[in-house]
Amino acid sequence: MTSADLTRRTAAELADLLASGEVSAREVTAAHLERTRAVDDRTHAYLHVDEEGALAAADEVDRKRRAGETLHAAAGVPIAVKDVLVTRGLPTTCGSRILEGWIPPYDATVVRRLKDAGLPILGKTNMDEFAMGSSTEHSAYGPTRNPWDLERIPGGSGGGSSAVVASHQAPWAIGTDTGGSIRQPAAVTGSVGVKPTYGGVSRYGLVALASSLDQAGPCTRTVLDAALLHEIIGGHDPMDSTSIAGPVPPVVEAARRADVSGTRIGIVKELSGEGFQAGVQQRFDESVQHLVDAGAEVVEVSCPSFTYALATYYLILPSEASSNLAKFDAMRYGLRVWPEGIEDPSAEQVMAATRDAGFGDEVKRRIILGTYALSSGYYDAYYGSAQKVRRLIANEFAAAFEQADVLVSPTAPTTAFRFGEKLDDPMAMYLNDIATIPANLAGIPGISVPSGLAPEDGLPTGFQVLAPAMADDRLYAVGAALEARLEAEWGGSLLGRAPDVQSLPLPAAVPATHTTEA
Ligand code: GLN
Repeated sequence: MTSADLTRRTAAELADLLASGEVSAREVTAAHLERTRAVDDRTHAYLHVDEEGALAAADEVDRKRRAGETLHAAAGVPIAVKDVLVTRGLPTTCGSRILEGWIPPYDATVVRRLKDAGLPILGKTNMDEFAMGSSTEHSAYGPTRNPWDLERIPGGSGGGSSAVVASHQAPWAIGTDTGGSIRQPAAVTGSVGVKPTYGGVSRYGLVALASSLDQAGPCTRTVLDAALLHEIIGGHDPMDSTSIAGPVPPVVEAARRADVSGTRIGIVKELSGEGFQAGVQQRFDESVQHLVDAGAEVVEVSCPSFTYALATYYLILPSEASSNLAKFDAMRYGLRVWPEGIEDPSAEQVMAATRDAGFGDEVKRRIILGTYALSSGYYDAYYGSAQKVRRLIANEFAAAFEQADVLVSPTAPTTAFRFGEKLDDPMAMYLNDIATIPANLAGIPGISVPSGLAPEDGLPTGFQVLAPAMADDRLYAVGAALEARLEAEWGGSLLGRAPDVQSLPLPAAVPATHTTEA
């Protein structure tokens, strides 16, 4: 099998090929590294590629398989990890200058679980600085480009993870979702992304943006692959005090059954219609019809407080971020900048100079906003009020789930936009997450599955499914049912219709990837 064939396979298919001995883990890993060497100058999806480490991990899997050891079913299928999860011995920058040069001394639990399952780690993917953004344009290392159109954004903050999957540089990847950073990039790149129930996947070693909202999850090309990955990374972790003690919901079984007969699908009135691109809305409506044809029932639900979700999020997130990011003080991690023209600077002066040089504008904007919202005299008016609205939103979800088993909406209001289009207008950028943010505020799980190309621009659209907390399996049942129907209509996957990145003209000024040589 040629290496190009191997990079076209899903993770589930690769797992089967590896188990039957048809290919080795080294061949599969080398194929993806080769693909990355060929196209990453176009996508700039990786911040760091670990050729040596990935091949060594692959060899170890091959050695164990030859020795007849029992391996995880996915052992040898390589993976990419968003640069916000710490990796022992590998750079972890969070897309920020302030962490340049920092090598973590430990692995995040998610990373540990990938390694324990025998998944070679190909590298770390690009992202908006500290996961703040919807386009990767806030990465200090330059943006990632959408494999469908290199002049457009791949979504954010986890645009690197969705792009490596969509451009076949990795069979699957890990992202994190605080307000939509797994689901929105999936939507605009024609891939699948899942934000699990809050507490369903350990946050230990996930560099915190907003601790009460952050959740790591799968970025894949199929719903089944997402379920397989969810099962690997999910489950209780004593190192995370917010980790759920129960078992991982039966996600793989649900993805395989793909059964929606009798499922009540709730269309959230506030999460579609006005403000949504016509082609996005059209593909959403068609997807709902597909689910009805597959046996689901449709109900209309209304959640009036969702109108305040964005405002609520942009008080809670900056408040938590301002506290979480205080640890980047020039003393403990990464960058240290000596202030110019000061003979014998104080620790405070070094901190100020370092933060000034090390943090980008969006990070500074949110730290200032959060510090203000938490300051005495304003705390009740801003942070306190936001917490109350957050409760209302959770209550409205609970009421909606009395009427429906899952709720659905378009994932993002538009298809991928052009670089620079929303960069100078924070509100326009924030609006990308209008449909994804409510789930983070309530701690419930969500998936985005490809719903076709918007007729007006030929770019991917995403269909979002939300379920009650700990009912993540419902996302997979609905997602897989929709995927099966749409792929039958399209005669293959949506990504199968994407142009080959390698054949696209190289845009000017694409930043280089940092690579460790094998
Ligand atoms: N785009 C949202 C933000 O800028 C979501 C980010 C995320 O989920 N990490 O905050």
